[in-house]
Amino acid sequence: MTLALPPLVDHHCHGVLRRSPDADTFTSHLTESDAPAAPGTSFFDTQLGFAVRRWCPPLLGLDPHCPPERYLERRRELGADEATRRLLRASGTGTYLVDTGLPGDLTGPAELAELGGGEAHAIVRLESLAERTADASHGPEAFVEVLDHAVAAATRTAAGFKSIAAYRYGLGLDPEPPTAAEVHAAAARWLDGRTPGERLTDPVLLRHLLWSAVRTGLPLQLHTGFGDPDLRLDRCDPLLLTDFVRAVAPYGCPLVLLHGYPYHRHAAYLANVFTHVYADVGLALSHTGARAEAVLAEALELTPFGKLLYSSDAFGLPELYVVGARVFEEALTRLLDAWTASGAWSGPDGERVAHLLAAGNARRLYGLGPDPS
Ligand SMILES: [Zn+2]
Repeated sequence: MTLALPPLVDHHCHGVLRRSPDADTFTSHLTESDAPAAPGTSFFDTQLGFAVRRWCPPLLGLDPHCPPERYLERRRELGADEATRRLLRASGTGTYLVDTGLPGDLTGPAELAELGGGEAHAIVRLESLAERTADASHGPEAFVEVLDHAVAAATRTAAGFKSIAAYRYGLGLDPEPPTAAEVHAAAARWLDGRTPGERLTDPVLLRHLLWSAVRTGLPLQLHTGFGDPDLRLDRCDPLLLTDFVRAVAPYGCPLVLLHGYPYHRHAAYLANVFTHVYADVGLALSHTGARAEAVLAEALELTPFGKLLYSSDAFGLPELYVVGARVFEEALTRLLDAWTASGAWSGPDGERVAHLLAAGNARRLYGLGPDPS
């Protein structure tokens, strides 16, 4: 079947580089590794690298799978703005929910919306908010107070919050909220001798941030599974969140488990049994490329169809928006073809579910209103 999807809602993505990247910077975005490729190898020789070479050159007037050097040369000829505009607009994304917490010379939500011809909303990264607050704070009392105000202020403009506690400590945090005395003691310990920009890794303050967000009721995105080597993957299994998920239930705050891979089936289980848990397979689909169909099929084994969300997790390169969208659409089309051909799914149900995954679930969850197109 040919899927006619609505404009995608990309519920987890990041800004793109404002300047044209050189070859090394470009390839560094084709991996989650923070190290160079092994001698004699290239990150272009990965599922993600092949997906970029398949989908992106035709959008810049070249043949699919043309040599990477030719592609990068063409990109430089066009300039960063023009290449970004063409690629973003071809991705089919209508709404960007942008995690604004990453450092670097990246476009903000408004610029991304302008370049991509869509609309954008911010997702506030809790740990970055705490670090900025600490940089400007005068003592633990003021830090805790200003941070509370900053979380409350964010609810007026942001579509949700995001936590990378998985990176900073792991997901096996004590599930209960810390007491006010514990928060103040932890803030005093952390701020004592802290140099500006220092990362937050204190488990009490990480839990305080999570619970501050939970109490606002806005959707809370949690990094789980696959990510860069800053994390210990074995501490990012979403099942480690089970007691936290139970503790959050009475507060009505939706928890959105990002990425998940290779534990996406664990995330699917949690989404299946807990009303307020949602799942996403964005990053995993782009990185598994030609195998994305298998990963999406596994996510759809247990995740209720109204609770799985499309995202690209694009960061730095507009190419990653294109790849995220095309790989998702292709994997989904193949699955729907197989499941409708076997009679397991009806054609109309298949189309309805495709619309939910592409946009409807995110529009409902983040209160974005009906599709404007
Ligand atoms: Zn991300």
